[in-house]
Amino acid sequence: MDRTATAAKKILVTGAGGFIAGHLVKALQSQGHRIRAVDIKPLGEWYQTLPDAENLVMDLREKQNCYRAVEGCEETFNLAADMGGMGFIETHKAACMLSVLINTHLLMAAKDNGVKRYFYSSSACVYNAEKQTDPRNPGLRESDAYPALAEDGYGWEKLFSERMCRHFREDFGLVTRVARYHNVYGPYGTYDGGREKAPAAICRKVIEARRSGKREIVIWGDGEQTRSFMYIDDCIKGTLDIMNSGIEEPINLGSSEMVSINRLVDIVEEIAGVRLQRKYDPEAPKGVRGRNSENSLIRKCLNWEPSTPLRIGMRKTFEWIEGEIGKR
Ligand code: NAD
Repeated sequence: MDRTATAAKKILVTGAGGFIAGHLVKALQSQGHRIRAVDIKPLGEWYQTLPDAENLVMDLREKQNCYRAVEGCEETFNLAADMGGMGFIETHKAACMLSVLINTHLLMAAKDNGVKRYFYSSSACVYNAEKQTDPRNPGLRESDAYPALAEDGYGWEKLFSERMCRHFREDFGLVTRVARYHNVYGPYGTYDGGREKAPAAICRKVIEARRSGKREIVIWGDGEQTRSFMYIDDCIKGTLDIMNSGIEEPINLGSSEMVSINRLVDIVEEIAGVRLQRKYDPEAPKGVRGRNSENSLIRKCLNWEPSTPLRIGMRKTFEWIEGEIGKR
């Protein structure tokens, strides 16, 4: 059933000062919904702030703030988490695990306030590390999360929170939906400061190399590790469609266009019109050797899968980051 055509609702979006939720607020507003947008960051640091939303600054690890946040909202999209790319999650495991307080308290508040639907943003980091040792990864199926051997810290928090959603659904009847995002990229996201992920970090490094005339780039590991990257527009469409669907179990939301990090650098160099000397840092955080999204389930359930070609999405991302760096 297409629920997007139904009457305007009051909807809570958490993590709204961040990358994905900022785009989500915009999409929900364009459908006519009234949005309460919450983030821990001061408003001036939000990537996007929409004047028509009710924008609140609160720490959602605190239970009373979660109760305040869900009050009067029919639906909740929980995208708040203390997270970042490999450089962040490998060195901030306790901080990542503390995000469990956000999802736990939000679920309790949602249940007690009669929230009708609840979305949780999980991650491909829940998948068993032993199934990600080959760079030619055929794609992770939803069942590959078990037996559990998730990314230490961040991935275990996501796996635990997924199960919390499941049990609130089974035991309390709260309608919960869970998407496992695979690397999301696009404009209005983190591109420096230590939390950035590979696509934005590579764009920034190439732009800086071109501007400085120092024609070299440092790549983490040997660059042969593989990933797939989903453009933000696909992420938002998938998030809304999963929320409005009958899909009760966690489902992959990712691109199946797998590339090595070296190939991703090629693409950015082509966009920038430069060739750089590559220096490899074997000591830098690398994450798993190969990861891809296996999309049979989403194709079956939604008759759709993320399909924005990497070079098209990367061009838009590159141009946005170049504009931001130019403004400094
Ligand atoms: P982001 O860091 O840009 O956004 C997360 C936001 O949550 C930030 O603005 C942050 O300030 C906020 N936040 C953190 N702690 C908070 C707290 N205690 N109270 C209120 N707000 C708090 O990250 P994103 O890329 O937009 O990710 C959104 C969600 O998607 C997260 O749950 C993340 O784990 C998940 N995810 C993202 C990716 C990706 O590639 N970007 C991949 C897998 C999963």
